Amino acid sequence: MKNNYDRSISLVCATCASDQFAFDTDQPEEERSYTCIDCDEVYSYDEIMDSNSERISMVVDEIGKEYLADATKKLNNAFSKFGK
Ligand SMILES: [Zn+2]
Repeated sequence: MKNNYDRSISLVCATCASDQFAFDTDQPEEERSYTCIDCDEVYSYDEIMDSNSERISMVVDEIGKEYLADATKKLNNAFSKFGK
């Protein structure tokens, strides 16, 4: 479930605002260095997460709302079955 949600978060370069990064997928996420394809700025995982934390928390917020909406829909469906 976590992996599905991860895709909706795109990281942005603090220098040029590009969202294209090169990184080694063989390394664990925390140990990767992220190289901006546009300006060649290199970020550690901590740095990139830190500079994007505001955006990430916004996305997490959105996901939370979507998840809640989904759950409410399911609940409503369950109730409407009982209502008939
Ligand atoms: Zn950049």
